[in-house]
Amino acid sequence: MLDTARDALRTIFGFPDFRGVQAQVVARVLAGERTLAVMPTGAGKSLTYQLPATLMEGTCVVVSPLIALMHDQLRAAEAVGIRAATLTSADSNRADTIDRFRAGALDLLYVAPERASGEGFRNLLSQAKLCLFAIDEAHCVSEWGHDFRPDYRLLRPLLDRFADVPRLALTATADAHTRADILDQLGIAPDGLIVAGFDRPNIRYAITPRDNTTRQIADLVAAQPGPGIVYAPTRAATEKLAEMLGRGGRAVRAYHAGLDPAIRAGNQAAFVASEDMVMVATVAFGMGIDKPDVRFVAHAGLPKSIEAYYQETGRAGRDGDPAEAHLFWGADDFARARQRLGEVEPHRQAGERQRLAALAGLVETAECRRAILLRYFGETPPEACGNCDNCLAPPATVDASVVAQKYLSA
Ligand code: ADP
Ligand code: MG
Repeated sequence: MLDTARDALRTIFGFPDFRGVQAQVVARVLAGERTLAVMPTGAGKSLTYQLPATLMEGTCVVVSPLIALMHDQLRAAEAVGIRAATLTSADSNRADTIDRFRAGALDLLYVAPERASGEGFRNLLSQAKLCLFAIDEAHCVSEWGHDFRPDYRLLRPLLDRFADVPRLALTATADAHTRADILDQLGIAPDGLIVAGFDRPNIRYAITPRDNTTRQIADLVAAQPGPGIVYAPTRAATEKLAEMLGRGGRAVRAYHAGLDPAIRAGNQAAFVASEDMVMVATVAFGMGIDKPDVRFVAHAGLPKSIEAYYQETGRAGRDGDPAEAHLFWGADDFARARQRLGEVEPHRQAGERQRLAALAGLVETAECRRAILLRYFGETPPEACGNCDNCLAPPATVDASVVAQKYLSA
């Protein structure tokens, strides 16, 4: 079965082979097994339902949270000759799409969750053969997740109405709690969970307590000739740091949501085109930016969560060449984070508290940073990676739990 899939991978998508756990996920889907695939952004989750959809008889119904996302996917699918359509309020050709679906002429039908839950849609689905339900961005079903969408909760009755149709849930961001909740909410057994692909071996992780952030960042920037991103906690800090780093003669720009849109876009374009620029930015910067040769990512303060840290550092070294991720943190970061915890809605507090504790564990550990990260995402890493600060220069052992306790107890 996988041989056929690999042939289709080459002839339809033009890829020489599967990446990471794609093969494993595709095999489960083709065998009709309910699956939750947790793979990082850019790992190629879409392929794990698009490819089976071309091989199996019937239409794959894809649930996706954003119309813009659906239209991107649609264009990409059509570009390789997959028969696909979206069924959203923004589409004027809905009647045509429904005809194609009924005639069995669609491999993929993209829908929004609110549509998927309606009676009319349920009737429509019973009028043609289905091969798969793919639930993209599946963390939206969980209140533990960072992007809960109540509409996702309405999917379960639809899935259960077509209980024989296999289901594949996909997400990039899922701590253990969210993951268990997704399985539960979507009726997937725990052994249907596949997690992998989070390791970025070419990124060297380093995490240092702050003494003088500006000097520490300036030293780092001076040692790194290639393009880099410095994440600063506030808009004001962004501009101040950019101004300071620029004095050394390095090309530096700033990026945050408070800048004039034209200036922001100009700075981003300059960074993408540059071979040595430093972008000092808030976390508003980075989403959807395609720059494979970013050589370092620095954090001038604690990121929001391990997920955020992974996402932000993951912008370094996409070309596979050596890259660095350096985080500078202070006890006051934890004080602020604790304060923010108090402002979170009550039902989310336990989750947020756990996320903060995990972050404390990462910054305080004397163990391999990569091992901590990968274990957080549910992978089983080797004990030491040989490419993080703690592996390269083992620190004098401190009792991390005691220190973390100090920062976490209110
Ligand atoms: P995700 O949804 O996991 O963030 P996508 O499905 O959008 O990722 O895929 C990211 C990119 O990887 C796309 O450009 C896709 O074409 C590419 N890709 C997916 N699978 C493979 C593969 N096996 N080999 C090479 N490129 C791949
Ligand atoms: Mg995706």
